[in-house]
Amino acid sequence: MFDFSYSEEQLAVKKMVRKFVDKEIMPYIQEWDAKQHFETSLLKKLADLGLMGVCIPEKYGGQGMDYNTLAIVCEELERGDTAFRTAVSVHTGLNSLTLLQWGDEFQKEKYLIPQAKGEKIGAFGLTEPNAGSDVAAIQTRAVRDGDHYILNGSKTWISLCDVADHFLIFAKTDPDKGHRGITCFIVERTFPGVTTRGFKDKLGIRAGNTGEVILEDVRVPAENRLGEEGEGFKIAMSALDNGRFTVAAGAVGLTQACIEASVKYAKERETFGKPIGRHQLVQQMIAKMVAGYEAARLLVYRVGWMKNRGMRNTREVSLAKWFACDVAFQAAVDAVQIHGANGYSHEFPVERYLRNAKAPVIYEGTREIHQIMQGEYALGYRKDKPLRKNLPKWPFEE
Ligand SMILES: Cc1cc2nc3c(=O)[nH]c(=O)nc-3n(C[C@H](O)[C@H](O)[C@H](O)COP(=O)(O)OP(=O)(O)OC[C@H]3O[C@@H](n4cnc5c(N)ncnc54)[C@H](O)[C@@H]3O)c2cc1C
Repeated sequence: MFDFSYSEEQLAVKKMVRKFVDKEIMPYIQEWDAKQHFETSLLKKLADLGLMGVCIPEKYGGQGMDYNTLAIVCEELERGDTAFRTAVSVHTGLNSLTLLQWGDEFQKEKYLIPQAKGEKIGAFGLTEPNAGSDVAAIQTRAVRDGDHYILNGSKTWISLCDVADHFLIFAKTDPDKGHRGITCFIVERTFPGVTTRGFKDKLGIRAGNTGEVILEDVRVPAENRLGEEGEGFKIAMSALDNGRFTVAAGAVGLTQACIEASVKYAKERETFGKPIGRHQLVQQMIAKMVAGYEAARLLVYRVGWMKNRGMRNTREVSLAKWFACDVAFQAAVDAVQIHGANGYSHEFPVERYLRNAKAPVIYEGTREIHQIMQGEYALGYRKDKPLRKNLPKWPFEE
């Protein structure tokens, strides 16, 4: 009934991504992070390895692997740096899987296939200057005009804003209806009226790209509406069920990076005549990292298992995301501590881990939002109703 082993295919992917990270990311990442440089050529290399559509069915241009293979990819990528895991999270988790779940055949043909092949990049535009956790407060407007909608508004903190070809944009079609008045649109960068501006000087994920998307009288064909009018909130939440899965998996990888760096340093650095790894308080910090890592990984893989079976996993993925991101953040705090003053320097990777580990505690549902969700589920105040469209089970039907 319970099988904790990787399949041969999953192991091969894990090995491939690890090799890729060790060769293509590790040697350069400290410099890219310092220079705030997003190395976009890596997106093409990830695409060449089939990693931009790993769990998208083959008939839609992907590799047709199971959902836990996506988790494995994210885990291994974030062992290198959060920036590249974020790219896969946004492109595959938040955008492509949403097209797979909610898109019609025309939209899958036109947008999902090139995204799954990595020929086009997808992003996700929900957050606005005045609306993050409170999604129903978004102000971007979409007004129907014949066979088009006209979009006006601005999105902020959008990952991949400067490199994405396609955005999922959430806008109000009926501002009086709160969250029931939100609709989702596929917006191309080339549509007149779309502009983007990447941010500089973020605390972390400095080797990645995040910023604003401005929409000024953007004419979007009605055929680019994803789902029905008023269905946008449900679409956004189901997208987050997939995005959170990738964020949680990435956090497991970051925790692993903290363990690797801490173990290495604890064996090399000596105080009071012995390696610091021989001091029990240092061992305690590493032991907590290991416990958190193992528990978080199990929570993540359980979600993948549920996705493979077509089961609703909003509660379980929220728990995995909250827990795994808190574990990763604490692991990074302790990894810096184990490195002493060296941990405070850019000469060692752990200060980057700490800066990177903060964002996932904020995005895709802050720690507080996940705690509220878990409290509400436990108390019976929150229950999930069936959705009109579900993510396909794995193995996919051809
Ligand atoms: C690096 C990065 C990348 C991002 N990428 C994307 C992206 O690609 N697409 C996208 O749409 N967004 C993205 N975001 C935005 C992110 O999803 C939001 O920042 C997040 O949802 C929180 O919203 P906020 O920043 O407006 O905080 P707010 O919602 O204003 O919250 C501020 C504080 O109040 C707390 N709070 C809010 N409501 C409650 C409550 N009811 N009870 C208790 N506490 C509460 C929060 O937990 C938080 O601590 C990104 C953010 C970052 C940092």
